[in-house]
Amino acid sequence: MKKVQSTCNFCAIDCNLDFYVEDGRIVKTVPTKGYPVNDGFSCIKGLSLSKQQTTVKPDALPKIRQADGSFIAGISTGQLTLEEFAIFGHVMRNYLQTNVDGNTRLCMASAAVAHKGTLGYDAPGYTLNDLELSDTIIFIGANPVVAHPIVWQRVRNNKNPDRKIIVLDPRKSETARNADYWYPLRHRSDLTLFYTLANIIIEKDYVDHEFVDQHTEGFEEFRDFVKAFSVERGSEVSGLSEAQIMELAELIHTGKRVSFWWTMGVNQGYEAVRTAQSIMNLAFLTGNVGKPGTGGNSITGQCNAMGSRLFSNTTCLFAGGDFTDEKERERIAGIIGITPDLMAKKPTIPYNKIIEGINAGEIKGLWILCTNPRHSWTNNETFAEATKKLELFVVQDIYDTIESAENCTVYFPVVPGIKKEGTYINLERRLSPMRKVLERGENEISDYECILGVGRALGMGAALEKWGTPRECFDLLRECSKGMPCDFTGVHWDDLTGSHGRQWPYPEGREAEFSDEQRRLYEDGKFYTPSGRARFVFEEPLGNPIPVTEEFPLVFNTGRGSVGQWHTQSRTKEVKFVEDVSLKRAYLYMNTRRAAENGIKEMDEIRVFSSNGQNAVFAVKVTDNVQYGELYAPIHYVECNKLTPSSYDKYSREPNYKGGTCRFEKIEKEGT
Ligand code: SF4
Repeated sequence: MKKVQSTCNFCAIDCNLDFYVEDGRIVKTVPTKGYPVNDGFSCIKGLSLSKQQTTVKPDALPKIRQADGSFIAGISTGQLTLEEFAIFGHVMRNYLQTNVDGNTRLCMASAAVAHKGTLGYDAPGYTLNDLELSDTIIFIGANPVVAHPIVWQRVRNNKNPDRKIIVLDPRKSETARNADYWYPLRHRSDLTLFYTLANIIIEKDYVDHEFVDQHTEGFEEFRDFVKAFSVERGSEVSGLSEAQIMELAELIHTGKRVSFWWTMGVNQGYEAVRTAQSIMNLAFLTGNVGKPGTGGNSITGQCNAMGSRLFSNTTCLFAGGDFTDEKERERIAGIIGITPDLMAKKPTIPYNKIIEGINAGEIKGLWILCTNPRHSWTNNETFAEATKKLELFVVQDIYDTIESAENCTVYFPVVPGIKKEGTYINLERRLSPMRKVLERGENEISDYECILGVGRALGMGAALEKWGTPRECFDLLRECSKGMPCDFTGVHWDDLTGSHGRQWPYPEGREAEFSDEQRRLYEDGKFYTPSGRARFVFEEPLGNPIPVTEEFPLVFNTGRGSVGQWHTQSRTKEVKFVEDVSLKRAYLYMNTRRAAENGIKEMDEIRVFSSNGQNAVFAVKVTDNVQYGELYAPIHYVECNKLTPSSYDKYSREPNYKGGTCRFEKIEKEGT
């Protein structure tokens, strides 16, 4: 029996698993013991990867209905390996000079933009070990019990007798139910609340002056700005009592190692970038940066979201450089084997502009990879509309049954992760290898080979000479990373195989200096800004662009449904033991009092009318865990994003998924 260690390619934890293979089949899957991320533990999704060997049957040949078109755009995904979205970015952005965005725009764009503005580079500084070392763990708009079980496992491993778990969430999520403190703030009041907390910390002189003086810039301006955020104002906006806000400020002050962790509840908002930065501001003020168990930390969503942010050639040059930096353009062009004039000249237009461009008739072709925007795109009927206008619509996926494939003109079948190889970067900057667990059958090709084949067919010739295999591509990207904050020149393809992974930076020649397996950034108080100091970035909160009204009096909140379900379910609905325990139809949660007032009982049906003009039917689950003023719908059903708004953060262009408003009508059962 052969054992192959590889990486789970669902979420950004990037657990490693040992696959035992006999006669070309996986007979056992065991979470890798000793792997610094998951150490012998994983969630049900990772264990289910072996199920895909029998259920995924890629068709032997592409399906072509019609093929014509000139202007094309692409949408890739943080589910691909580094090498796959790099070659896609090379073919599409460099050679075809076109626009490509990734579905990382839907989850991590706000964190990435916030990091760049505040830290000078998209460099989350923590290691997962910080969850075990912190004494005050504050989750903001994050529900790791369901969405990131390994994060929660690491919290449970924290044996500090003073450990406090604090949750800020309008919903009494599974994590809130397991926390020591839950602050049920009002929907989208977080930015005002964080400025209020900053003001209290400054007024009470809870500031770490040494850290602020030596390692930050903009403190005086920030101090003056937050003076307007009195505790009365914070209380009025957030719905928390003044006593609760003061208590939270004291908890932050008295914690010796305070860590803040945010995810989609923050990122998917209309002022998400500023909210993420306001969290980091609190960490700077209190000196909770670069030390064990601290940090203003973003939890990433997809298995390679971190990698796609730096290596997809969409918003920055390979390894994070600026498209306008001539010297950097020359350096990267030399490495990847083209002249600088053949390289993309500016960042891509964002996802929403691609969809709007198709609907306006300006973009005629679209190639999407391993993503399902008919389901996941906000206000998803706009994507359905767009697909009917395309002259060429290429879908590349392991399933031709995904909703997005419905109107495609070309379908490229590709193999799942267990049959390919490449590299992932997880949420704590750890490079981790995906290695082929099963051999491919006849006519089975990987995403990499598919893109390479298209590039060759398009006549790229010498521009692809250095890109022949994922391993060659990895070497190119490694070289691109040289001298950048993400420098991983000390990481080699063969060394990664069967390893404990490697966090960047890991520069060649300095391996001994970076040998610790769990490393955090900013321990020296140096940041990637020109001054080397972290910046306080802040702005007056905006008015909510979609406030509740008499016509639409409820907030339409969304998020993860269960541990076993993954995003649009194209992969997990193939897994019988997940499917057996998941509801087959769209449902949402409604507050008990609201349900009683409307005569609604468990699993009654309602039609929800969104302020985006769409409506959909949901079954109702009645609960006290959502507030009276909102409904909460799991994202795994296509009806959910039918109702989310076409509204975006102005800096990151990430959709304001959690900002919709709605009303509902009960659907009377026949005979009642
Ligand atoms: S889905 Fe995430 S937590 Fe679950 S096994 Fe995969 S990497 Fe680990």
